[in-house]
This record gives sequence, C-alpha cells and structure tokens, in this order.
Amino acid sequence: MFCVEWTAGGGWQTPRIQPFQNLSLHPASSSLHYSIELFEGMKAFRGVDNKVRIFRPMLNMERMHRTALRASLPSFDTAELCECIRKLVELDKDWVPHSTKASLYLRPTFISTEQTLGVSRPGRALLFVILSPVGPYFSTGGFSPVALLADPQHVRAFKGGVGDCKLGGNYGPTIYVQNLAIQQGCQQVLWLYGDTEQITEAGTMNLFIYWINEQGEEELATPPLDGIILPGVTRQSLLDLARQWGEFKVSERYITMADLQKGLREKRVKEMFGAGTACVVCPVDRVLYHGQNLHIPTMENDGPKIATRFLQVLTDIQYGRTESEWMHLV
Ligand code: PMP
Repeated sequence: MFCVEWTAGGGWQTPRIQPFQNLSLHPASSSLHYSIELFEGMKAFRGVDNKVRIFRPMLNMERMHRTALRASLPSFDTAELCECIRKLVELDKDWVPHSTKASLYLRPTFISTEQTLGVSRPGRALLFVILSPVGPYFSTGGFSPVALLADPQHVRAFKGGVGDCKLGGNYGPTIYVQNLAIQQGCQQVLWLYGDTEQITEAGTMNLFIYWINEQGEEELATPPLDGIILPGVTRQSLLDLARQWGEFKVSERYITMADLQKGLREKRVKEMFGAGTACVVCPVDRVLYHGQNLHIPTMENDGPKIATRFLQVLTDIQYGRTESEWMHLV
C-alpha cells in the first residue's frame, strides 16, 4: 500500500510504499467523527501485449483534488500522486490479472487524522492507496440488465451540496435506500431530484438514455454536471466517444420521469444504461415507480446496440487492443 502523511506544520511528509497493514488511528480522528474522508476508484488493466496501463488516471486525480479542497483536506500535486500510484502498480504488477475480463482496482483514500473533536479544518491527514484484483462485473459473460427503484422520497444529493464530490459521506446513507430497492425486487436506486423528478444517477453510476427525443432526433442524453451529479470518468469517456463518432445528437441535459414515461409511451426510448468504472456500462430493463413497473426495452435493440458498442470500444482501449492516449502506461 502507498501512504503519505500531511501535517499543517510540516506539510507533506515522505511518501512510502509499505506492506499492506492496518492503520493505527487516534479515536478522536475527525475522519471517524465528521466523515472528513474521501476516496477514488480507478483501474489498471493488463493489455493483450502484456503491458499494464491505468485508465485516464489524471481525471481521477483532478476529481480527488477538487473533493479534497471541498473537504478542507490539503491540496496536493495531482501529477505527483499519479506517479506514486503508477509506482505502486508497477511494484504490484503481478496482481494485475492476466485476463481481458478482469483488472486491478485502485482505491486512493484521503482521511483526516486530526486528533481533536473540534469541528474544524484538519491539521493532520493521511493519504493512502490500496488495491485489489477484480473479476468481470457481469459473471455470465454477457450483460445482465438491472431494475431500478425510482422513489422520489429519497435524494442522493442536492443543489448547493457535495454530490459532485467523491466524499465517503455521500455513500454511507445510500445503503439504506439501496436495501429498500432490493426488498422491492430491484438491484439499484434511480436517484430522482426536485419537484420535476429529474433523473440523476443510478446507484453509483451515471445514467444515459439513448432515444428519439421529442424533436424526432436520435439522441444520447445524460444529466448535466450542475453540482448534483458525480462527474464520472466513464461518463466523460462515453460523451467523448459519442461526440467523436458524430452519428447522433449528444446532450448533457435534464430528463424528468415525465419525459421518460412519455418516451416509453411513444416507443421512442431505445436504451437506458448506467456508466461507471465497475461495469463500464450496465443496461437497465425496468424502473419501479410508484408501484408501477416501467419496462425499458434496452435489451431489445439488437442487444443493446449503443451500450454494447461503448463496452467494446472502451475495453479495446483498456486492454490495449486499440492504441489510445487515454491509457497511462505503467
Ligand atoms: N456516480 C457516482 C455517485 C459514483 O460513485 C460513481 C463511481 N465513481 C460514478 C457515478 C461513476 O464514476 P466513474 O465513471 O468515475 O467510476
């Protein structure tokens, strides 16, 4: 594991890579009391050429830095942390699976180790990175679509809040709602927001809809980064790819439950899917809304067409089958 301490008086200490081990924390550490804590999630892949590469790590570093400042944790050099992580993966490269279905998950974490109970800016902090091999998200090989519970009683994030930051505090409270979804036969939560019931995210994934919009245009749409959406690296990558293809309209815009229902009634919705590091893309085939099952025909459109294409193109990049500047060589 990688570790580096920071203190207000001494700044950043010497970073080190050490054997994986427990942390020793003062019981008053403000990460434990006030959740002054954040994390990142990214992956390293072993390419078909046996070279190990990390996917767009600087986007994670920048998101982590932005989150750190919002958490009153100290600033750091994003390029330098990226290099430290590269070194860690290099040292542990035998843990990167020899498989084009699996990868090495990297978990940078930044916590306050402030030893006083005052609710104040920490004077001590610890940044560490742990890692673990992970298998394929869909164990069956093909896609397994998920059902989402859309219950406007629960919100993940709100305007003026911190939903666009990867703070631990954004995640703990979602588990309760996730369990409500499971009790009702769904796999994940479709997070709605506001009186218009905007569709925001699905579980811990950004959400995409591919449809014919009300103007009759073929469109890929995802909610805009207005503060309540986590700016996903996968989200950015899908938008970049779709804009590069230039084959259909690509929009970052609001979509409400009413828009979705109208689209379904008028048979304009083709695909709905989540996007994130864990799965790349995850098709949605059902939304449970006020006790009513809305069938989403994602799996009926050649299988699904756009989600499958995104998965293929991104995994070709990740496993080195397609050369791309998005990959950071270890
Ligand atoms: N939304 C939320 C709330 C998340 O936690 C994540 C996972 N980081 C995502 C979206 C997807 O982001 P990424 O593509 O960077 O994994």
